[in-house]
Amino acid sequence: MSAGPTIGILDVIRTKRDGGELTDRQIQWFITQFTDRTIADEQASALLMAIVWRGLTPRELATWTAAMIASGERLDLSTVGRPTCDKHSTGGVGDKVSLPLCPIVAACGVAVPQLSGRGLGHTGGTLDKLETIPGWSPFMSNDAFVSQLREIGAVIAAAGDDLAPADRRMYALRDVTGTVEAVPLIASSIMSKKIAEGTDALVLDVKVGSGAFLPSIDQARELAATMVGLGLDHGVRTSALITDMDQPLGLAVGNAVEVTEAIEVLQGGGPADVLEVTLALARRMVELAGGSVDPADVIASGAAMDVWIAMIAAQGGDPHAALPVATERETVGAAASGYIQRIDARKVGEVAWRLGAGRARKEDPVSATAGVLLRRVAGDRVSAGDPVLDLHLDDPSKLAAALESLDGAIEIGDTPPAGRVFIHAQIDEGLS
Ligand code: URA
Repeated sequence: MSAGPTIGILDVIRTKRDGGELTDRQIQWFITQFTDRTIADEQASALLMAIVWRGLTPRELATWTAAMIASGERLDLSTVGRPTCDKHSTGGVGDKVSLPLCPIVAACGVAVPQLSGRGLGHTGGTLDKLETIPGWSPFMSNDAFVSQLREIGAVIAAAGDDLAPADRRMYALRDVTGTVEAVPLIASSIMSKKIAEGTDALVLDVKVGSGAFLPSIDQARELAATMVGLGLDHGVRTSALITDMDQPLGLAVGNAVEVTEAIEVLQGGGPADVLEVTLALARRMVELAGGSVDPADVIASGAAMDVWIAMIAAQGGDPHAALPVATERETVGAAASGYIQRIDARKVGEVAWRLGAGRARKEDPVSATAGVLLRRVAGDRVSAGDPVLDLHLDDPSKLAAALESLDGAIEIGDTPPAGRVFIHAQIDEGLS
């Protein structure tokens, strides 16, 4: 950072609060001091809240993201020996797509370096799901990560502490200060981690609907284009699909139950929406990486399943072990006769969370077995009392609160609803 006038945090906060533009030096200074814990949380929170209201200009966002990447290490995947492409989802209810996608794309000849997080709130986390497989561990060294990528082509692992540490600290603060829902903050948070991961290409699955971070299509488009722009600026071939998260993805919401559904996809089955979204993302990943294999072919041939087995076993998991199941079930019936119009993703996510599948704070444990299984979906005709959802749980004391969250989740009407669209748009260009 070049020498210049002393920077003070109060000036930085006031500048953004009053709608001004921060200099590159101010941004680099803030991210460095914040990562080193030299800036008090209340002052960092004030700046984050000012950004929620005022936003960041494209130049400010570019500098902010570059500073977040520079706060830690950047992985070198040049020895992997095949093109690399990762996928990131902005998070959703029943979104188990990473599980089948990673081995499918690897079986197409493209290495998938996936550093993942845990679930927070009503959306689930990929690591929480995989940890229900007996023996499987998300922890590995950078060397082990690269060598698994070289040998198997697929890794899903926990991001180490040195990858974009500024984001790790900032996300924890945003989570408790109401400053998560802002396009520049979400975009820089996600992209700093993905760019630091060292992937050649990246496909973003930006969710839209009640179960997504940003419920409206306009916000989802803005987020997608902002992230694509950041990726392209850093030399990562980046593309985004905007996919539906107004209703849960698939029939299973929880941890072990989602692994079971992911395995069904690899076996050539699984719910139509999970398969459609998985194949659309896989095709885009293979395209961006310069490959030509059709992902549907590696499911049909069993090659994707072979990679799954190797990937799970390499991380200590037993791919053939039975997954844990809940001790208690509670069935929820239709309140009226008619056609199911919609099953609200956010409410189902909250129910699964209340049953124990998710966590309120990062350090909370999650239940492997708790969750929700959909027995009917939008478009199905039901009579009053027909089973619609099965709630799975181990701790009966959680049932009453979970049932309360379900209020209004299942909408029933007299006529069949319009067909669901699972993929709304593809975004290949950044914001100009
Ligand atoms: N996921 C992230 O990693 N960061 C955000 O800000 C939101 C979702």
